[in-house]
Amino acid sequence: MAQVILLGTGAAWSGPDRENTFMLVRGETTNLLIDCGGSPTQRLAQVGVMPDEIDHIILTHNHPDHIYGLPLLLLNAWMAGRKASILIYGLAGTIRSVRKLLQAMEFKTLPNFTPIKYHTVIPNSITALPPIGEFDVSAAPTRHYVPTMALCITERATGKRFAYSADTSPDKSVVELARDANVFLHEATLLDESSAGHSSAQEAGAQAAAANVGELVLIHVPPNVRPLRWCRAAQETFQGKVRVAKDFDIVNF
Ligand SMILES: [Zn+2]
Ligand SMILES: [Zn+2]
Repeated sequence: MAQVILLGTGAAWSGPDRENTFMLVRGETTNLLIDCGGSPTQRLAQVGVMPDEIDHIILTHNHPDHIYGLPLLLLNAWMAGRKASILIYGLAGTIRSVRKLLQAMEFKTLPNFTPIKYHTVIPNSITALPPIGEFDVSAAPTRHYVPTMALCITERATGKRFAYSADTSPDKSVVELARDANVFLHEATLLDESSAGHSSAQEAGAQAAAANVGELVLIHVPPNVRPLRWCRAAQETFQGKVRVAKDFDIVNF
């Protein structure tokens, strides 16, 4: 069974018990990282994964809380002796930021640095990425301050799916992407007020109801999150199972 290990569940301003939101998708043969906040090597070590075991990294957008751990992860993969290339997927602006970030770190001065390959995702209503190991991946644009993509990951063998909203205020294309998913990880930076680029728990519930998903997991939560209140707010609009993610939670799908 494929699983998602939540390596961080906090918003851009995270609390003492939460790292910024990023996650590891584990299949039989594939380790796929979605976003790369915090101190990724330390987080991966806690779940028994070495930095050189990550083959694919999808970055939803170029805000610091979603990409700032990347240079350290790549450095550690090289230190662990990784020779095989690492593939990074993102929208054009994100790939541009990553290239600049890595240039600033002067990795070219390090001998035989791990090769990095890029795949630029063209934002459409729903766009298929190349297959990644045993997973099919599709993306859709979200409503955020910078171009951002939500993701839907399907385990090919079982057809089971999970969707991740990334950062967004309520948006129809995110609902379409997540339609009928087994699990929907939706950001809930706020409790019940609206914002131009983020969602409340209440709005996340409405998105989950519109997408007819099996279970809603609230993620990207602020330092003052009160899990019971966040769940109740989401349950005003969504009748299914709801929980607030905690760091190192495992989501089976
Ligand atoms: Zn964020
Ligand atoms: Zn953001």
